Amino acid sequence: AKKRGRNQHYFYTEELNVTVQKNIALDKAMRQALEDHEYHLYYQPKVNLLNGDIIGLEALIRWFSPTKGMIMPDQFIPLAEENGFILELGKWVLQEAFRQQKIWQQQGMDLHVSVNVATKQLLDNQFESLLEHLVKETGVDPNKIHLEITEYLFMDQNDKNLNLMKRLRSKGFSISLDDFGTGYSSLSYLKTFPISELKIDKAFVRDYNTPDGAVFLETIVKMGQTLKLQVIAEGVETEAQARYLKKIGCECYQGYLCSKPLPVKELDTFYLKHKSC
Ligand code: C2E
Ligand code: CA
Ligand code: CA
Ligand code: CA
Repeated sequence: AKKRGRNQHYFYTEELNVTVQKNIALDKAMRQALEDHEYHLYYQPKVNLLNGDIIGLEALIRWFSPTKGMIMPDQFIPLAEENGFILELGKWVLQEAFRQQKIWQQQGMDLHVSVNVATKQLLDNQFESLLEHLVKETGVDPNKIHLEITEYLFMDQNDKNLNLMKRLRSKGFSISLDDFGTGYSSLSYLKTFPISELKIDKAFVRDYNTPDGAVFLETIVKMGQTLKLQVIAEGVETEAQARYLKKIGCECYQGYLCSKPLPVKELDTFYLKHKSC
Protein backbone atom coordinates (compact mmCIF):
# COMPACT_ATOMS: atom_id res chain seq x y z
CA ALA A 1 0.00 0.00 0.00
CA LYS A 2 2.86 2.29 0.87
CA LYS A 3 4.41 1.66 -2.48
CA ARG A 4 1.22 2.54 -4.29
CA GLY A 5 0.98 5.69 -2.23
CA ARG A 6 4.40 6.69 -3.36
CA ASN A 7 3.53 5.92 -6.96
CA GLN A 8 0.44 8.01 -6.69
CA HIS A 9 2.42 10.84 -5.28
CA TYR A 10 4.89 10.49 -8.12
CA PHE A 11 2.03 10.43 -10.62
CA TYR A 12 0.48 13.64 -9.32
CA THR A 13 3.83 15.39 -9.28
CA GLU A 14 4.38 14.42 -12.89
CA GLU A 15 0.98 15.74 -13.87
CA LEU A 16 1.63 18.96 -12.04
CA ASN A 17 4.96 19.26 -13.83
CA VAL A 18 3.27 18.89 -17.18
CA THR A 19 0.85 21.70 -16.33
CA VAL A 20 3.63 23.95 -15.06
CA GLN A 21 5.69 23.28 -18.16
CA LYS A 22 2.75 23.98 -20.43
CA ASN A 23 2.16 27.25 -18.64
CA ILE A 24 5.81 28.22 -18.94
CA ALA A 25 5.63 27.56 -22.68
CA LEU A 26 2.35 29.49 -22.98
CA ASP A 27 3.79 32.35 -20.94
CA LYS A 28 6.71 32.63 -23.30
CA ALA A 29 4.56 32.33 -26.41
CA MET A 30 2.09 34.97 -25.15
CA ARG A 31 4.86 37.50 -24.64
CA GLN A 32 6.48 36.75 -27.98
CA ALA A 33 3.08 37.10 -29.65
CA LEU A 34 2.84 40.71 -28.51
CA GLU A 35 6.19 41.51 -30.14
CA ASP A 36 5.09 39.67 -33.27
CA HIS A 37 1.77 41.57 -33.51
CA GLU A 38 -0.32 38.42 -33.29
CA TYR A 39 -3.07 39.97 -31.16
CA HIS A 40 -6.11 41.58 -32.71
CA LEU A 41 -9.23 43.18 -31.32
CA TYR A 42 -12.63 42.07 -32.55
CA TYR A 43 -15.68 44.23 -31.89
CA GLN A 44 -19.21 43.16 -31.01
CA PRO A 45 -22.22 45.53 -31.35
CA LYS A 46 -24.21 46.65 -28.30
CA VAL A 47 -27.81 47.10 -29.36
CA ASN A 48 -30.72 49.22 -28.11
CA LEU A 49 -33.67 46.83 -27.69
CA LEU A 50 -36.30 49.48 -28.36
CA ASN A 51 -35.19 50.64 -31.80
CA GLY A 52 -32.43 48.18 -32.73
CA ASP A 53 -29.79 50.92 -32.98
CA ILE A 54 -26.17 49.94 -32.48
CA ILE A 55 -25.03 52.15 -29.61
CA GLY A 56 -21.55 50.87 -28.90
CA LEU A 57 -19.02 48.11 -29.40
CA GLU A 58 -17.19 45.77 -27.04
CA ALA A 59 -13.54 45.08 -27.84
CA LEU A 60 -12.63 41.40 -27.46
CA ILE A 61 -9.11 40.11 -27.92
CA ARG A 62 -8.07 37.33 -30.29
CA TRP A 63 -4.65 35.74 -30.70
CA PHE A 64 -3.68 34.60 -34.19
CA SER A 65 -0.86 32.09 -33.82
CA PRO A 66 0.84 31.15 -37.09
CA THR A 67 0.92 27.53 -35.93
CA LYS A 68 -2.30 27.16 -33.93
CA GLY A 69 -4.61 29.58 -35.69
CA MET A 70 -7.10 31.70 -33.75
CA ILE A 71 -6.81 31.33 -29.98
CA MET A 72 -9.73 32.55 -27.84
CA PRO A 73 -9.14 34.73 -24.74
CA ASP A 74 -10.30 32.01 -22.34
CA GLN A 75 -7.17 30.10 -23.40
CA PHE A 76 -4.67 32.74 -22.32
CA ILE A 77 -6.24 35.64 -20.39
CA PRO A 78 -6.49 33.67 -17.10
CA LEU A 79 -2.77 32.82 -17.20
CA ALA A 80 -1.92 36.40 -18.19
CA GLU A 81 -3.85 37.59 -15.14
CA GLU A 82 -2.01 35.11 -12.95
CA ASN A 83 1.52 35.86 -14.10
CA GLY A 84 1.13 39.61 -14.51
CA PHE A 85 1.51 39.74 -18.29
CA ILE A 86 -2.02 41.20 -18.35
CA LEU A 87 -0.49 44.56 -17.43
CA GLU A 88 1.44 44.67 -20.68
CA LEU A 89 -1.23 43.01 -22.80
CA GLY A 90 -3.96 45.14 -21.23
CA LYS A 91 -2.00 48.25 -22.08
CA TRP A 92 -1.90 47.17 -25.71
CA VAL A 93 -5.64 46.50 -25.64
CA LEU A 94 -6.41 49.95 -24.26
CA GLN A 95 -4.11 51.68 -26.73
CA GLU A 96 -5.56 49.77 -29.67
CA ALA A 97 -9.18 50.31 -28.61
CA PHE A 98 -8.64 54.05 -27.98
CA ARG A 99 -6.91 54.44 -31.33
CA GLN A 100 -9.73 52.62 -33.12
CA GLN A 101 -12.49 54.58 -31.37
CA LYS A 102 -10.81 57.81 -32.45
CA ILE A 103 -10.65 56.59 -36.06
CA TRP A 104 -14.35 55.67 -36.03
CA GLN A 105 -15.25 58.98 -34.44
CA GLN A 106 -13.39 60.83 -37.17
CA GLN A 107 -15.27 58.77 -39.76
CA GLY A 108 -18.54 59.91 -38.22
CA MET A 109 -19.21 56.59 -36.51
CA ASP A 110 -20.29 57.88 -33.12
CA LEU A 111 -20.11 54.69 -31.02
CA HIS A 112 -18.59 54.16 -27.61
CA VAL A 113 -16.08 51.35 -27.17
CA SER A 114 -16.14 49.05 -24.15
CA VAL A 115 -12.81 47.64 -23.01
CA ASN A 116 -12.34 44.74 -20.61
CA VAL A 117 -10.02 45.67 -17.75
CA ALA A 118 -8.66 43.00 -15.41
CA THR A 119 -8.73 43.71 -11.68
CA LYS A 120 -4.94 43.51 -11.62
CA GLN A 121 -4.74 46.34 -14.17
CA LEU A 122 -7.09 48.56 -12.20
CA LEU A 123 -5.21 48.02 -8.98
CA ASP A 124 -1.87 48.76 -10.60
CA ASN A 125 -0.48 52.08 -9.37
CA GLN A 126 0.32 53.16 -12.93
CA PHE A 127 -3.22 52.60 -14.25
CA GLU A 128 -4.46 56.17 -14.05
CA SER A 129 -1.34 57.70 -15.53
CA LEU A 130 -1.44 55.05 -18.25
CA LEU A 131 -4.99 56.08 -19.16
CA GLU A 132 -4.01 59.73 -19.17
CA HIS A 133 -1.03 59.00 -21.39
CA LEU A 134 -3.12 56.93 -23.82
CA VAL A 135 -5.83 59.59 -24.01
CA LYS A 136 -3.20 62.16 -24.96
CA GLU A 137 -1.46 59.84 -27.38
CA THR A 138 -4.59 58.72 -29.24
CA GLY A 139 -6.73 61.82 -28.87
CA VAL A 140 -9.73 59.71 -27.82
CA ASP A 141 -12.57 61.30 -25.88
CA PRO A 142 -12.83 59.40 -22.55
CA ASN A 143 -16.60 59.92 -22.72
CA LYS A 144 -16.55 57.41 -25.57
CA ILE A 145 -14.81 54.75 -23.50
CA HIS A 146 -16.46 52.28 -21.12
CA LEU A 147 -14.22 50.30 -18.77
CA GLU A 148 -15.66 46.85 -18.08
CA ILE A 149 -14.69 45.57 -14.68
CA THR A 150 -15.86 42.58 -12.62
CA GLU A 151 -17.26 42.29 -9.15
CA TYR A 152 -13.94 41.01 -7.81
CA LEU A 153 -12.89 44.59 -7.35
CA PHE A 154 -15.63 45.03 -4.79
CA MET A 155 -14.47 42.18 -2.60
CA ASP A 156 -12.27 44.78 -1.09
CA GLN A 157 -14.59 47.73 -0.55
CA ASN A 158 -12.01 50.18 0.63
CA ASP A 159 -11.88 53.91 0.01
CA LYS A 160 -8.89 53.49 -2.26
CA ASN A 161 -10.92 51.59 -4.86
CA LEU A 162 -13.92 53.88 -4.44
CA ASN A 163 -11.81 56.99 -4.93
CA LEU A 164 -10.15 55.48 -7.98
CA MET A 165 -13.56 54.82 -9.54
CA LYS A 166 -14.66 58.35 -8.77
CA ARG A 167 -11.56 59.84 -10.38
CA LEU A 168 -11.98 57.69 -13.50
CA ARG A 169 -15.60 58.85 -13.71
CA SER A 170 -14.62 62.48 -13.32
CA LYS A 171 -12.17 62.07 -16.19
CA GLY A 172 -15.12 60.99 -18.35
CA PHE A 173 -14.74 57.21 -18.46
CA SER A 174 -17.84 55.11 -17.83
CA ILE A 175 -17.68 52.06 -15.61
CA SER A 176 -19.54 48.89 -16.57
CA LEU A 177 -19.96 45.98 -14.19
CA ASP A 178 -19.30 42.85 -16.25
CA ASP A 179 -20.65 39.32 -15.64
CA PHE A 180 -23.12 40.72 -13.16
CA GLY A 181 -24.67 38.08 -10.94
CA THR A 182 -21.80 35.61 -11.03
CA GLY A 183 -19.66 37.09 -8.29
CA TYR A 184 -19.88 38.52 -4.83
CA SER A 185 -23.38 39.61 -4.26
CA SER A 186 -23.01 42.29 -1.69
CA LEU A 187 -25.26 44.70 -3.49
CA SER A 188 -24.46 47.73 -1.36
CA TYR A 189 -21.57 48.63 -3.63
CA LEU A 190 -23.97 49.27 -6.49
CA LYS A 191 -25.18 52.32 -4.63
CA THR A 192 -21.79 53.45 -3.42
CA PHE A 193 -19.67 53.03 -6.53
CA PRO A 194 -20.09 55.31 -9.58
CA ILE A 195 -21.14 52.54 -11.96
CA SER A 196 -23.05 53.44 -15.14
CA GLU A 197 -23.89 50.04 -16.59
CA LEU A 198 -24.72 46.51 -15.46
CA LYS A 199 -23.96 43.66 -17.83
CA ILE A 200 -26.09 40.62 -17.10
CA ASP A 201 -24.06 37.46 -17.55
CA LYS A 202 -25.08 35.27 -20.45
CA ALA A 203 -25.80 32.30 -18.17
CA PHE A 204 -28.89 34.12 -16.90
CA VAL A 205 -30.04 35.03 -20.39
CA ARG A 206 -29.73 31.40 -21.44
CA ASP A 207 -32.04 30.39 -18.55
CA TYR A 208 -34.60 33.14 -19.18
CA ASN A 209 -37.44 30.66 -19.68
CA THR A 210 -36.93 28.81 -16.40
CA PRO A 211 -38.80 30.10 -13.32
CA ASP A 212 -35.62 30.99 -11.40
CA GLY A 213 -33.98 32.50 -14.47
CA ALA A 214 -36.96 34.74 -15.17
CA VAL A 215 -37.11 35.98 -11.57
CA PHE A 216 -33.42 36.70 -11.63
CA LEU A 217 -33.55 38.69 -14.86
CA GLU A 218 -36.57 40.72 -13.76
CA THR A 219 -34.95 41.48 -10.42
CA ILE A 220 -31.74 42.77 -12.00
CA VAL A 221 -33.58 44.89 -14.53
CA LYS A 222 -35.76 46.45 -11.80
CA MET A 223 -32.75 47.06 -9.61
CA GLY A 224 -30.95 48.72 -12.52
CA GLN A 225 -33.95 50.99 -13.08
CA THR A 226 -34.13 51.89 -9.40
CA LEU A 227 -30.44 52.76 -9.29
CA LYS A 228 -30.64 54.51 -12.69
CA LEU A 229 -28.10 52.18 -14.25
CA GLN A 230 -28.10 51.10 -17.86
CA VAL A 231 -28.77 47.37 -18.01
CA ILE A 232 -27.41 45.31 -20.89
CA ALA A 233 -27.97 41.58 -21.37
CA GLU A 234 -25.11 39.48 -22.77
CA GLY A 235 -25.27 36.41 -24.95
CA VAL A 236 -28.64 37.08 -26.58
CA GLU A 237 -28.99 34.53 -29.37
CA THR A 238 -32.71 34.30 -30.13
CA GLU A 239 -35.62 36.59 -30.95
CA ALA A 240 -37.52 35.04 -28.05
CA GLN A 241 -34.82 36.08 -25.59
CA ALA A 242 -34.77 39.60 -27.00
CA ARG A 243 -38.57 39.86 -26.85
CA TYR A 244 -38.59 38.74 -23.25
CA LEU A 245 -35.85 41.16 -22.23
CA LYS A 246 -37.65 44.01 -23.93
CA LYS A 247 -40.88 43.06 -22.19
CA ILE A 248 -39.29 43.27 -18.75
CA GLY A 249 -37.76 46.66 -19.52
CA CYS A 250 -34.15 45.75 -20.31
CA GLU A 251 -32.76 48.47 -22.58
CA CYS A 252 -29.85 46.86 -24.40
CA TYR A 253 -28.34 43.59 -25.47
CA GLN A 254 -25.25 42.07 -26.95
CA GLY A 255 -25.20 38.73 -28.71
CA TYR A 256 -25.07 36.63 -31.82
CA LEU A 257 -28.67 37.66 -32.58
CA CYS A 258 -27.21 40.92 -33.89
CA SER A 259 -23.66 39.84 -34.64
CA LYS A 260 -20.73 37.88 -33.32
CA PRO A 261 -17.55 39.86 -32.60
CA LEU A 262 -16.02 41.03 -35.91
CA PRO A 263 -12.64 42.31 -37.06
CA VAL A 264 -12.58 46.04 -37.89
CA LYS A 265 -13.03 45.71 -41.65
CA GLU A 266 -16.02 43.41 -41.37
CA LEU A 267 -17.50 45.51 -38.60
CA ASP A 268 -17.26 48.60 -40.81
CA THR A 269 -19.06 46.80 -43.63
CA PHE A 270 -21.68 45.45 -41.25
CA TYR A 271 -22.30 48.87 -39.71
CA LEU A 272 -22.56 50.61 -43.07
CA LYS A 273 -25.20 48.10 -44.13
CA HIS A 274 -27.15 47.88 -40.89
CA LYS A 275 -26.67 50.72 -38.38
CA SER A 276 -29.24 48.72 -36.44
CA CYS A 277 -30.12 45.12 -35.74
P1 C2E B 1 -16.85 38.78 -21.51
O1 C2E B 1 -16.23 40.09 -21.25
O2 C2E B 1 -17.99 38.37 -20.66
O3 C2E B 1 -17.24 38.80 -23.05
C1 C2E B 1 -18.41 38.23 -23.59
C2 C2E B 1 -18.11 36.90 -24.26
O4 C2E B 1 -19.34 36.36 -24.75
C3 C2E B 1 -17.20 37.00 -25.45
O5 C2E B 1 -16.40 35.82 -25.49
C4 C2E B 1 -18.18 37.01 -26.61
O6 C2E B 1 -17.61 36.59 -27.84
C5 C2E B 1 -19.20 36.03 -26.12
N1 C2E B 1 -20.51 36.20 -26.74
C6 C2E B 1 -21.04 37.31 -27.29
N2 C2E B 1 -22.28 37.09 -27.74
C7 C2E B 1 -22.56 35.80 -27.47
C8 C2E B 1 -23.71 34.97 -27.70
O7 C2E B 1 -24.74 35.39 -28.23
N3 C2E B 1 -23.62 33.68 -27.26
C9 C2E B 1 -22.52 33.18 -26.65
N4 C2E B 1 -22.52 31.92 -26.27
N5 C2E B 1 -21.41 33.95 -26.43
C10 C2E B 1 -21.45 35.23 -26.83
P2 C2E B 1 -14.84 35.89 -25.81
O8 C2E B 1 -14.58 36.90 -26.88
O9 C2E B 1 -14.38 34.50 -26.04
O10 C2E B 1 -14.20 36.44 -24.47
C11 C2E B 1 -14.21 35.68 -23.29
C12 C2E B 1 -13.77 36.47 -22.11
O11 C2E B 1 -12.38 36.81 -22.20
C13 C2E B 1 -14.48 37.81 -21.95
O12 C2E B 1 -15.75 37.61 -21.38
C14 C2E B 1 -13.52 38.56 -21.07
O13 C2E B 1 -13.71 38.19 -19.72
C15 C2E B 1 -12.18 38.03 -21.55
N6 C2E B 1 -11.57 39.00 -22.48
C16 C2E B 1 -11.76 39.16 -23.80
N7 C2E B 1 -11.02 40.18 -24.29
C17 C2E B 1 -10.34 40.70 -23.23
C18 C2E B 1 -9.41 41.77 -23.07
O14 C2E B 1 -9.06 42.50 -24.02
N8 C2E B 1 -8.92 41.99 -21.81
C19 C2E B 1 -9.31 41.22 -20.75
N9 C2E B 1 -8.78 41.50 -19.52
N10 C2E B 1 -10.19 40.22 -20.85
C20 C2E B 1 -10.70 39.94 -22.08
CA1 CA C 1 -16.85 42.12 -21.07
CA1 CA D 1 -19.47 39.48 -19.55
CA1 CA E 1 -16.61 36.81 -18.60
